[in-house]
Amino acid sequence: SKKLNICFLGASEVGKSSLISSFQNSYFDESQTYVPTIENKSSKLYTYKQLYTINNYDTSGSIECNCIIPQTIKQCEAFVIVYSLTDRNSCDSITMYIEMIKNCFKYLKGCDNVPIILVGNKVDGDNNKNLAFTETEIQELSKYINLPYIEASAKDIRSVQSIFNLLIDTINIKEKQL
Ligand code: GDP
Ligand code: MG
Repeated sequence: SKKLNICFLGASEVGKSSLISSFQNSYFDESQTYVPTIENKSSKLYTYKQLYTINNYDTSGSIECNCIIPQTIKQCEAFVIVYSLTDRNSCDSITMYIEMIKNCFKYLKGCDNVPIILVGNKVDGDNNKNLAFTETEIQELSKYINLPYIEASAKDIRSVQSIFNLLIDTINIKEKQL
């Protein structure tokens, strides 16, 4: 299998840990109490076009832990930035994370052509009434951020797998460009 180290970044409580655990366990544990993550790694075999060993690196969205994030970024080759469709403030830090990733890559590998995708999480059925953005705002945001974009729900395992499929497609496109 091909090893793939993926780093999840984004504001607090957008669902980074939930997306990773839904992928890992094919099950969304709603009863889990909110645990602020510092750093966590989980591994899983996954097949999409080929067999991968996916290592997911979880991070914390809180500023106090930002000093750890560059260490995690260094260990990874692909990135998922998450915001929550139910929290308007959660998109504020997207550009900061993109800059962080690109700066690390420029510094380490002399290249900033990094596979990154953007995920709008919490698009689940019973939650749609809680959406904090209009359709137009979401379109404008994803146009402005200019990354491959997908909406998902940690409750919906299929949409969680679609995140990984989109990321793998993005990696393959970037590799062809080199
Ligand atoms: P993190 O801080 O980004 O790791 O966020 P967590 O994964 O800890 O999730 C924060 C809260 O949002 C928890 O109460 C989760 O149960 C909830 N949550 C996460 N993903 C979803 C989702 O897709 N839909 C809904 N409705 N809630 C979610
Ligand atoms: Mg977390």
